[in-house]
Amino acid sequence: MPENNICPACQATNTTDLFQAKDHLVSGREFLIRQCTNCGMGWTVDPPSEEEAGKYYASDEYISHTDSKQSLADRLYHLAREFMLGRKGKLVNTAVRKSAGVIIDIGSGTGYFAAFMQKRGWQVTGIELSEKARKYSVERFGIRAIGPQQVMDLPSAYADCITFWHVLEHLYNPEGWMGEVRRILKEDGKCIIALPNFASADAKWFGRMWAALDVPRHLWHFTPAAFRQFAAKQGFACERTSALPLDLFYISLLSYRNNGKALPLARGLLTGAVIALRSLFRSDSASSLVYVLSKKDS
Ligand SMILES: [Zn+2]
Repeated sequence: MPENNICPACQATNTTDLFQAKDHLVSGREFLIRQCTNCGMGWTVDPPSEEEAGKYYASDEYISHTDSKQSLADRLYHLAREFMLGRKGKLVNTAVRKSAGVIIDIGSGTGYFAAFMQKRGWQVTGIELSEKARKYSVERFGIRAIGPQQVMDLPSAYADCITFWHVLEHLYNPEGWMGEVRRILKEDGKCIIALPNFASADAKWFGRMWAALDVPRHLWHFTPAAFRQFAAKQGFACERTSALPLDLFYISLLSYRNNGKALPLARGLLTGAVIALRSLFRSDSASSLVYVLSKKDS
């Protein structure tokens, strides 16, 4: 749960209030975004309590971006998903330097990534809070999926890789989760964390309209500097950072659509192209970043 006045990444107490961001998905409510003036970390002020959070996820769109393929946007979304699965798989193989092993996907949702890895010979466990999504992933893909309470039953030094694909920013106790990750990972295991980038070119472009704010579901708005500090405090070294290139276009499209602009797809693609060209060689300004972490010696 965010401590409203203390930076969760660097513990500084000098903060600035940026703007009110709107929940476009469920409630229509506005939430204040506060930023640490020391490290740039942002957070959502006074989010719903963890017990109440469930009702802010009460959108089927959030659970499974549907399997329908009617509109052009839907078809592009499915193409993009296939592309991203391939890219994520490759990121795992490169990070772990193995073509198969034990992988745990935290926040496995409807199971697409877990299923993709299982097909490639990995021994997969998905961890998912939503019972509905968990059930879907087990029935549709035959993966093993468990609830968050069962994480402590996983053996220590068990996994070669643990992934969080756009999940950590949703968690009420990210420190507690990172502690479990340290326990469950093998000594040479890798943790891969994908996050929206609060210091990205598109975050600056859209400001309070930036779709990846996604309040109040996103509690934390990490910048690269803030995330590396956070990871170090949890006992991890950041080995590599890379971009998820398509997220820029998706987030741009959503930012226009959420705010009722006409032709959000066309605008999103165009804005994405402009931003991508402008920040071509500045990887830290990508819309989403993937961090590869290894355990620091303790
Ligand atoms: Zn800070």
